[in-house]
Amino acid sequence: MRHNLQLVSICLILALSLITGNPQIQFVNLRTGDQIRYPVALLRGLANDGRIYVVNPQDPSADGRNTGRVVNKRFRLLVELVPGVNHLRVSDGTSQASLDLVYKPIASMYKVNVIYLTASDGDTFYITQNLNDKQNYREKLDTAAKLMQTLTAESLNDSGFGRKTFPLDLDSSGHVRVRTLKYPATADQLRTKTGNELYDLIYPWLGKQGLFNHQKNIVVMAFSRYDPDTKRAFAHIAWGGGDMGLFSSLSMCGWPDSIRDVERAFSDSTPLDPKVLYDDSMGRSNMWGLASTGLGAVIHELGHTFVGAEHSGDPESIMSRGFDHFNRFFLPAEAPSHLDPSEFVFADGQVIHWDPYNASLLSCDRFFQPDPRRFQDDLPPRIYFDWDTNEIVAAAPNGIKLLHLWKQTDPPSHTVFKLFKELPKVIRFGRSELRDMLNAPEGAAIHITDGEGQVFSVNEGAYKTRADLPPITSVEYAAKLRKFVDGLHGAKTVTWSHQSDLRR
Ligand SMILES: [Zn+2]
Repeated sequence: MRHNLQLVSICLILALSLITGNPQIQFVNLRTGDQIRYPVALLRGLANDGRIYVVNPQDPSADGRNTGRVVNKRFRLLVELVPGVNHLRVSDGTSQASLDLVYKPIASMYKVNVIYLTASDGDTFYITQNLNDKQNYREKLDTAAKLMQTLTAESLNDSGFGRKTFPLDLDSSGHVRVRTLKYPATADQLRTKTGNELYDLIYPWLGKQGLFNHQKNIVVMAFSRYDPDTKRAFAHIAWGGGDMGLFSSLSMCGWPDSIRDVERAFSDSTPLDPKVLYDDSMGRSNMWGLASTGLGAVIHELGHTFVGAEHSGDPESIMSRGFDHFNRFFLPAEAPSHLDPSEFVFADGQVIHWDPYNASLLSCDRFFQPDPRRFQDDLPPRIYFDWDTNEIVAAAPNGIKLLHLWKQTDPPSHTVFKLFKELPKVIRFGRSELRDMLNAPEGAAIHITDGEGQVFSVNEGAYKTRADLPPITSVEYAAKLRKFVDGLHGAKTVTWSHQSDLRR
């Protein structure tokens, strides 16, 4: 009898929870036991509308706990981890859940540095309309870099490449080691320069500081300024390539101060004061819009510094103006703005991401391999034209890991790619079939990444006579490569006769 009563009670609770729609908390992106290689986890899932809380008992720092909104049952919640096992406890006031995540720090010799660059006076002031601005550029840069690292890992995982991301230079307490460097020119001198001039000045100077060896650099200029009378902005650029991305600090006052400050910063609809701030917010004209565009520009340009990342036609890609939606990756709904006075509950397909094409590129980049490895720099891949067979030949003695084909437009169009498990050393294509497939009668663009992370790109339209070598290729290396290809006797050659397994 007693058992029966208990059973009735349990059934009643279950029935009530079904009627009231109180589901258990569910995580959609992570499972207990998952290992991640970066310090800030993004929990995505379903819970009861209202607020959700996470506590990481292993992390005594302030970012070891956080809270966020649940909107239409969905949440996105950040929490910092410490190396080892983290027993996260999550609650939405109605139900509880636990999630054990293992954080194993990246052990690669590669790293992304974060640099705050002042003029010769060493002034670190960034412009702001916040009366009590703490001018805490270190915390803002630490948070920004970690958000980009986590976004990248989650986005690559969503595309099926695992949680690969770039390494940050972290100190022993897990903070990004923000370097404050002083450029030897006055702020006034630097503010007379165009963006290109600044890039050309700072790039070689940074190289001389020893920061280009297996390193990429996010450089934010403290001396960016805005003149509201003339409506001119100075040292206001976002430009990336080679080993450096160079950025204005005009949006920094809107950036979050910490991981637990992300929700506040990306919900701050305070209008921009045109007497103080330059409105580079893609028309949102408020603090969260300014922050989102500013941070999005950083991750976009950082993308250009990694091997081969290209502009994308995908409207939500980081490599298109999708970068303006940086905020959406971390919240379940977008705050009101000048463009949309109501809250916008976006669909999954309206969230910023690395598009699958660029995600596949990054997954092969040396910066994205989390464990130490000595890469080979010899026998680089090449693509040439075989006039005897009328075929394009992609050849890589270290094996072809990734193949990209596209029509050379900006952004690239008709893009297809394939990631190989068994790395073929040679792939052949009929020239006209390739051009037909890509609708590129002038010539198809081809990019290969080999098993050592070495890359080669060419538009095959460049090959017009037998004497044309692949770009940056010596006669000796071309002869060596042809001998290598001939030596394979076709046994390890993939001939491109089927297109069904190409991804778009
Ligand atoms: Zn770009």
